[in-house]
Amino acid sequence: MSNKGKYKIPKAHALWPILWRVAVFLSIVVMIFAVLNILSGYVRDFRSEADTTYVRELADTIDHGTEAERERALATLTGDDHNYCIIDLYGNVVEHSGPITVSGYNDKKGEFYSSDLKDILFDADVKDDDGDRKIVVDAGGPATFLLDDYNTSIDAFAEVYDLASNHPDLLLSGSSNAVFSFPYWIGVPMSGSSQILLVRSMLTVKVKDYAYLAAGIIIAFIIAVFVFILMIVSVIMNLSSNRKLRRWLFRDNIIKGHNWLWYAVSTQDILCKRKNAHKTYAVVDLVFVRYRNFVLCHSVKEAESLLRLVVVEICKKLKKGELIAHSSSAALPLLLEVKDEDDANARIQDIISTLEAIPCGHRLAFKAGVYLVIPAQEKIALNQKRYIPDIDLLYNNACAASLSLSEVADSGIAFFDSELVDEEKWIDTVTTRQQAAVNNEEFLVYYQPKYDPRTNEHMGTEALIRWQTPDMGLVPPYKFIPIFEDNGFITQIDDYMLIHVARNQRRWLNEGRKCVPISCNVSRAHFGTENLAEYICNLVDREGCPRSLIEIELTESAFFDDENAMITTINRLKSYGFLVSMDDFGTGYSSLNSLKDMPLDILKLDAGFFRGSEDNPRTRIVVSEALALARSLNMKTVAEGVEDKSTVDFLAQEGCDMIQGYYYAKPMPCSEYENTVIPVPGQQVPESAPQQAPVESQPAADTQPSSDTPS
Ligand code: C2E
Ligand code: MG
Ligand code: MG
Repeated sequence: MSNKGKYKIPKAHALWPILWRVAVFLSIVVMIFAVLNILSGYVRDFRSEADTTYVRELADTIDHGTEAERERALATLTGDDHNYCIIDLYGNVVEHSGPITVSGYNDKKGEFYSSDLKDILFDADVKDDDGDRKIVVDAGGPATFLLDDYNTSIDAFAEVYDLASNHPDLLLSGSSNAVFSFPYWIGVPMSGSSQILLVRSMLTVKVKDYAYLAAGIIIAFIIAVFVFILMIVSVIMNLSSNRKLRRWLFRDNIIKGHNWLWYAVSTQDILCKRKNAHKTYAVVDLVFVRYRNFVLCHSVKEAESLLRLVVVEICKKLKKGELIAHSSSAALPLLLEVKDEDDANARIQDIISTLEAIPCGHRLAFKAGVYLVIPAQEKIALNQKRYIPDIDLLYNNACAASLSLSEVADSGIAFFDSELVDEEKWIDTVTTRQQAAVNNEEFLVYYQPKYDPRTNEHMGTEALIRWQTPDMGLVPPYKFIPIFEDNGFITQIDDYMLIHVARNQRRWLNEGRKCVPISCNVSRAHFGTENLAEYICNLVDREGCPRSLIEIELTESAFFDDENAMITTINRLKSYGFLVSMDDFGTGYSSLNSLKDMPLDILKLDAGFFRGSEDNPRTRIVVSEALALARSLNMKTVAEGVEDKSTVDFLAQEGCDMIQGYYYAKPMPCSEYENTVIPVPGQQVPESAPQQAPVESQPAADTQPSSDTPS
């Protein structure tokens, strides 16, 4: 799988570092130009200073000198380079030499002009919006003055005069377009005559100045190029270090692809985009079933290369914008864009089928948990202004869905729904409360008698657990036994039941009641207990109960864990005097072959045989054959879950030894069992076995015998 482009930085992430670098570059360029401008201004001022001083001296001579001196002075202001103009307080040109043109910028009009000074002084066109005449006394640089209504407002002109007197340098004028030499006007007020001497001079920038300027420009250009290169290098370095960082953060070394963090970040990006708000996404937890087993059978190296192959195969099935990563050893999170649940199901099924067909000399299996997300709907559900997905939670939901798939079923697809949350909450409640429930004696032993169908005689009993909770009422075993089997607490429950049953049997013996063997369910998880037979023996003996009054029920599926260990345990239990039965025969993968090796006393046919099958001749054949088989193996038989008379008659006819079913009795609390099934001799007993299906009784606090509560 190629890594090219894998750790590409998203456009949005790359843009900001580039943008701010460009901004810095532009600011530096602007600053360089500003400095250059200041520099050129300085050169101009430097070069014009001599002219200004000279014009001031001339103005002084013209103002205060003798007529001859004045003539001489004015004579110096004629020629190509200089000409002059004297204006009076009224703006009239008193005297001038040569053309008197002014170029500059009219602030009011917002435009450049170049015109005769005289025209400007007297041109009626130079008017403002109100029709008042304006006089532009100067232009260029900072000195542009407008006079309001020249004809009527002498004061205004006097204002300029004052201004010119106070800031003579402001009256410098001219065009700044030329580089080497350009004309400009210098205005100097003459206090003696209240006139202004305007002298046109040539501003000459010498080659030396130009050299300085050119050097400045070159240096500025070099600085700009240097800054530009620096900017480009910095952008490239930033992008590459960003890329390295992303690679370091997001790479999964096993699949040589992406890891969970990348999946989380990328999924977040996709789900947050506005354009994706109404699309449907499937967050998938794809699990390589028995991956560890593959590692054991082959090697870590082979397993990892298989995992890489799996990822490659999945990649072929992904569309643009869909994701795959590796989160833990056997889990691959995916993000698919789908139409609906059916589409998701079909696509994942397709992926699983492809993966399971990979030829590797091992039967591969995959399962998937799926959580469907429509960002717009999630946003509403979470009451958020902008959808901020919690990727951990979304993936956890997908994982919860995949975990809900039975461990037996190799592959499959499960979709997360709210029931799953309720289920998980219930598992949590049970697990949290289990120990306290044992300590507080919340578990009750119910008894369901077994009868001989031919004589209706009470032959045995099964002890069944119930959970009397203070807040949720009586909880049936199917709601908590599977949880205890999963979390291992079942062994404590089995002990609890054995102790209670043994204790009650002892008491009932002492009270002279009829005691029949009572069967206790022993879970397959208990077979992990070392010396199980001795362990059970100890529990029962401690209560002083004869071992022959205790029957151990082993569920059929337990027989497949370790057959030899099972046979040894059964033999030991039997040698200690216990009865041993196989529960739920017919539900699991019954191996009739293994039955012949198991020295069992009793075979319990599962209720499934008798449910809705009264008139099914094939079921009847199977049942009668199973009964005959048990008989020939010297085993007694119990039919479970029998509810009607015709089945009782059929089983009686086929030689079934006992029936445990609602037809005779439902599981009942201890007090009811004592009073109705095993009363003290001489006590009034209800007529033999009931003929109607009874209702399972609820426990009455006052009817629970003290002995049902362990000491
Ligand atoms: P099981 O050992 O096969 O118990 C027989 C189940 O069938 C009991 O359900 C019983 O109430 C029910 N049953 C009996 N006759 C009829 C009938 O005519 N019709 C119907 N519909 N049901 C009938 P229960 O008490 O709910 O127990 C269910 C399962 O929970 C048991 O199946 C057993 O596997 C497990 N369990 C119950 N108590 C214990 C226990 O103390 N320890 C262990 N390990 N498992 C237990
Ligand atoms: Mg049972
Ligand atoms: Mg059973």
